[in-house]
Amino acid sequence: MKHAERQPPPTVSAVSPQGVQLPVWNSELLRKYDVPGPRYTSYPTALQFSDSFDDLAWESYLRERPPTVAPLSLYVHIPFCRDICYYCGCNKVVTRDATRSDRYLDSLAREMALLARHVDRRRRITQLHWGGGTPTFLGNAGMTRLMHELAVHFSLNDSPQREYSIEIDPRGVSVETVALLKGLGFNRLSLGIQDFDPAVQHAVNREQPYAMVEPLMAAARAHRFDSISFDLIYGLPRQSPATMDDTLEKVLRLSPDRISCYSYAHLPGQFSSQRSIDRLEVPSAEARLALLHTIIDTLVGAGYVYVGMDHFVKPGDELAKALDNGTLQRNFQGYSTQLAPELLGLGVSSISSTGDVYCQNLKTQDAWEARIAAGRLPAQRGLVLSEDDRLRRDVIMQLICTMGFDTAETGHRHNVDLMEVLRPEIERLAPLEADGLVERIGTRVNVTPVGRLLVRNICMIFDAWLDPQKQRFSRTI
Ligand code: SF4
Repeated sequence: MKHAERQPPPTVSAVSPQGVQLPVWNSELLRKYDVPGPRYTSYPTALQFSDSFDDLAWESYLRERPPTVAPLSLYVHIPFCRDICYYCGCNKVVTRDATRSDRYLDSLAREMALLARHVDRRRRITQLHWGGGTPTFLGNAGMTRLMHELAVHFSLNDSPQREYSIEIDPRGVSVETVALLKGLGFNRLSLGIQDFDPAVQHAVNREQPYAMVEPLMAAARAHRFDSISFDLIYGLPRQSPATMDDTLEKVLRLSPDRISCYSYAHLPGQFSSQRSIDRLEVPSAEARLALLHTIIDTLVGAGYVYVGMDHFVKPGDELAKALDNGTLQRNFQGYSTQLAPELLGLGVSSISSTGDVYCQNLKTQDAWEARIAAGRLPAQRGLVLSEDDRLRRDVIMQLICTMGFDTAETGHRHNVDLMEVLRPEIERLAPLEADGLVERIGTRVNVTPVGRLLVRNICMIFDAWLDPQKQRFSRTI
């Protein structure tokens, strides 16, 4: 659908054919609440991790905690990229030296051995994700070796319910690689698309025409991957509602199962590669709103379910079902189903998350390798959650995943009178309630359809660590 032909946005609560409440667009409120804020892939966010929680603390935590055979999720970080995308804010190493990945795989295998000592072999790996960087930088032989090492150290499984996913850079992948990935056990692919417009791609130094992506999608469908997801970014230089219309038309033609639309944060002071982007070509706040509006209208109009924040999925997708039955989760990869209660990270800068601890690995390859060579876990920093953190995390995750929480039930779960403990926060909800972002019914606090697009702002009320003066975040819209 072309932007000029789009219908006016809905102004009243609407429900999709699947019975899922649709977000309601309110330009005035979106402008008012468009401030920097966390994306809450964790609470507290990684900014709160401290060096006082080091590898010794992580090791003793893993050694001394009660034994468990619960399912486990693994994340493997591959930091290498052949070229730099100017917008990128990820932890990556830009190199064309393929031998660097051999050394990296050697250390990864040693890290697995160190970590696996603390993992009961009966724990099934129900979720596995390779992210980066560019995991496919490893090449077919490297990826085969990595999966083999994982199988040596952990209990991978071939259940149809497993979720094994890998991030794909279409510029470095052939249809034969897609076939190999299926053979290695992956059943989910995530493709970094960002935008299909040639001028936008040129401006961000990531040129990957539609004709490059189409055969990969055909191969992925032919090999029956359960789920294919696309990452898009809005707010990139040279984007306009017209270019976005065109990109979305191509996206819909390829029909991915999931679509994530991230907002570009132009922070050249923080990310040096962004200095290559012409600031004057970056859409204004008003233009970004128009882009987001185009995305929501088009994807919801095409039948995708708005899961929340930045995610859209097809109605039959596992995330749509999880949204429906209240089991939706949020983790460092975004929204997730509730297959495994714990996530362990491997590789440079990766983050592990258990019920009460976050722990992040060293962020440079040299430091990470040296630590592993010394026979120690390469953890650098982390956080042991306090009772207050756990209560607030529960509230924030319920707001993001189930669009509300019950003050009595949540307080009961944490053995506190929530209305007393979080009284200042509940009082600070009043202006958001007056603006129609939240509603209070009895003991429940609900995010309204208008508030769904501003859920980060609602979560920020309950964030005890938030310090906008010192912390740099992307804008909430
Ligand atoms: S966006 Fe992805 S592929 Fe591009 S530089 Fe960043 S990590 Fe590498």
